[in-house]
Amino acid sequence: MWAQLRPLGRSPRSGGYFRQPFTQVDAELRAWFREECNRRELELQEDPFGNLAAWWVPSSNADLSKGILTGSHLDSVLDGGAFDGPLGVVSALAAIDLLRERGFVPTRPIGVGVFVEEEGSRFGVACLGSRLAAGQMSWDQAKELRDPTGIWLADAYAVAEIDPKRAKFHLPAFFLELHIEQGRDLVHRDQAIGVASKIWPHGRYRFEFIGQANHAGTTKMSDRHDPMLTYSVTALAAAKIARQRHERATFGRIEVAPNGVNAVPSKVTAWLDARSPDDAALVTLVQTIAEHGQQRARRDGTQVLMTPESVSSGVRFDPVLARLLAQGGVLELDPTRLWPLVPTQAGHDAGVMAQAGVPTAMLFVRNPTGVSHSPAEHAESADCLVGVAALAAALMQLDGAAPGNSEGTS
Ligand SMILES: [Zn+2]
Repeated sequence: MWAQLRPLGRSPRSGGYFRQPFTQVDAELRAWFREECNRRELELQEDPFGNLAAWWVPSSNADLSKGILTGSHLDSVLDGGAFDGPLGVVSALAAIDLLRERGFVPTRPIGVGVFVEEEGSRFGVACLGSRLAAGQMSWDQAKELRDPTGIWLADAYAVAEIDPKRAKFHLPAFFLELHIEQGRDLVHRDQAIGVASKIWPHGRYRFEFIGQANHAGTTKMSDRHDPMLTYSVTALAAAKIARQRHERATFGRIEVAPNGVNAVPSKVTAWLDARSPDDAALVTLVQTIAEHGQQRARRDGTQVLMTPESVSSGVRFDPVLARLLAQGGVLELDPTRLWPLVPTQAGHDAGVMAQAGVPTAMLFVRNPTGVSHSPAEHAESADCLVGVAALAAALMQLDGAAPGNSEGTS
């Protein structure tokens, strides 16, 4: 499977992947997935938003609301790595193969899911497909979305021939997502895989630094109201504050007006991405950064306005499921080992499923470089196989659990 996916959407120049939703490469990825599902005689369902779920059903009248869904996404960021998303889909299919090789027959449906536009690389909303499927975003909100070239989401769906009258997505009884680790926690712990305990809260904030445009030659340094200076000091303060608090703060995008080499700018707009272990800590982090901006603004004779654009609260994964993955999932691999519980600072479809009330857990596979959203992202085959085995073991144990009640798994 990995060999078939490797060339799809790959840039020969950077070696990175460009897999945006509802494009030609997306159609190829979906065709690949359909083919893999057909080969395994899984029952493929497509929802009105383009999400895919392929079910291994024990009987013809199986109740999908009692099903266990596992999967991830096939889209990538621009110039992303090979593993972020596809590893979860490939591992889910491989786990089904492993269970079948062992002669396991499920008593409830087991499905492989592929969510659309997880990265938000085209329409700007991360986890778009799972949010729509779970009802966390309405179609009325989604239809206002346009990609950077001005194409409306509904038109992109039409081009991809996604039928809006299809049946809605079935929320499963359990959701498991295997994902490449986007950091080096597992490297430091010397573990092939780990289990997610929680996702940190995360916010995006627009900072507007307003000054006065002026001539770069004739305006004395002492007479300027330069918002670039206010921005620069705020960005340095953000890095220092986040480092001291062991949190994350990133100014990754700025716009400068008028953006001329020979002009003191009139305005700098900068977007802050901030992440903290809990909601209160995130508020404190962002307030502290904004206060540093205000202090510097008084010195520069500029103004700072801060507007939160989106704030997602944290997600705590189902502790019973997490324990099952950490312990039971490895029984047959090595009973003396317990995979570590690790928090993550990245958002995932699993977070959306958990917020929708579906008992959810995540499994991370070690990434030796720790780099993600980049062609340098990597996982060793041996670690991936441990992930598949742990996922298969967890599916088998969950199959025996009471429907929709993860307490039954303890
Ligand atoms: Zn991902």
